[in-house]
Amino acid sequence: MSLGWIEEDRLRPVYERGNAIVSIVIGVHCVLSVWLASVYYTWAVTTAVAIPATFLFFGMKQWRPYGIETRMAACLSLMTFCMLHIYQMYGLPEMHFFFFTSLVAMLAYRDHRALYPGVFLIIAQHVLMTFDVAQIFAPHFWGTREVTPTVLAFHFGIALAATALAVYNMQVGRREYLETVQLASEFKEQAEELADAKAKLEADLKQRVRLEDLLQEQMAELQTKAASLEFTNFSMMGELERLEDMATTDALTGLPNIASIRQVLDHSLLLDAKVSVIMMDIDHFKSHNDEHGHQHGDEVLKTVAQVMKGQLRTDEAIGRYGGEEFIIVLPNCPSDVAIRIAERLRRSLEEFEWPVKAVTASFGISTRAVEFKVADELIAEADEALYASKRNGRNRVTLGGLNSEAA
Ligand code: GH3
Ligand code: MG
Ligand code: MG
Repeated sequence: MSLGWIEEDRLRPVYERGNAIVSIVIGVHCVLSVWLASVYYTWAVTTAVAIPATFLFFGMKQWRPYGIETRMAACLSLMTFCMLHIYQMYGLPEMHFFFFTSLVAMLAYRDHRALYPGVFLIIAQHVLMTFDVAQIFAPHFWGTREVTPTVLAFHFGIALAATALAVYNMQVGRREYLETVQLASEFKEQAEELADAKAKLEADLKQRVRLEDLLQEQMAELQTKAASLEFTNFSMMGELERLEDMATTDALTGLPNIASIRQVLDHSLLLDAKVSVIMMDIDHFKSHNDEHGHQHGDEVLKTVAQVMKGQLRTDEAIGRYGGEEFIIVLPNCPSDVAIRIAERLRRSLEEFEWPVKAVTASFGISTRAVEFKVADELIAEADEALYASKRNGRNRVTLGGLNSEAA
């Protein structure tokens, strides 16, 4: 059976253990040799045999600790010591120990090759004793019996059976050992693979956690940005409303400005057949500015606006036309009703208790009843009527159009 170098490599611990066992056994043999030499006075032969036998094994072990040579040397060394002990005790040249000694070596190393030197020697000894020097030793060696194959078979039978058993046992042990080592190495590989996979998983997990953190950070940042955008949006809406107000409202009086009141008029002209427009201009307003200052003039303008607004219903719109002129849009309102309203306004200003100087105003009215008129025509007509009021002495109401003069 050929052993692969991988198996040899894996068996190193077994060979190492065998070397340790044989070292102890040879150590015991050395001690025994010295003791026997002192008892039987065989110092010369003991020294000549024990020292080389010891060096044979230990030298080989040092040179090639896992080599087959060391196993062979162990076997030879052990057999040499056995021969020495027999010699020391003046024993018979009985050599069966060759066989048992080599069995020990084989079992120690779990290698059947360690058996070979012993087997070779025991066979050689029997051949020699039987045939080569048969004339001298055979009768003594085999007793008085004739050496037949049966005798030989009987002589070696037990030894062969024991050998077969030992070899089998050794081989089973050796195989089991190799399988265990194989399993252990596979297990180790799997454990390493598992450890690798675990490390990879852990790294993945860490990466994931890091990404999640990053995501959360970004989410938080986005939320902050969204909140800030919402806030900006909110302030912009407010700003827009403010701008819209500014675009449609007169800053001083808080009334709709000219553009805004024009829209109201246009809208009203679309919805209603009868629409009246009143144009109003404060009388001698310049004198208020000149006599009491511009700020006072502003106060007068604000008060005039409030007083007139207070006299109107919610669907009757008043706006500042410019300077000290105001315009009132009366939806669904015939001229006679418009005259009454204008008169009420005029009177409310006249009768208002002005703290500094009395204020009056002149009014001009235009009405669209059945004929088609656009906003500009109505305004121009009301303006004309207003100037008629001015010409006729101020603080009065004039209806424009066909019914030119009315008070
Ligand atoms: P009349 O009766 O003919 O309308 O005379 P009047 O003085 O009212 O008219 P005039 O057009 O001569 O003067 C209008 C004045 O109104 C001139 C201007 O300085 C003043 N005025 C226009 N807008 C404002 C304003 O917003 N605040 C103030 N304080 N004065 C204004
Ligand atoms: Mg004016
Ligand atoms: Mg005026």
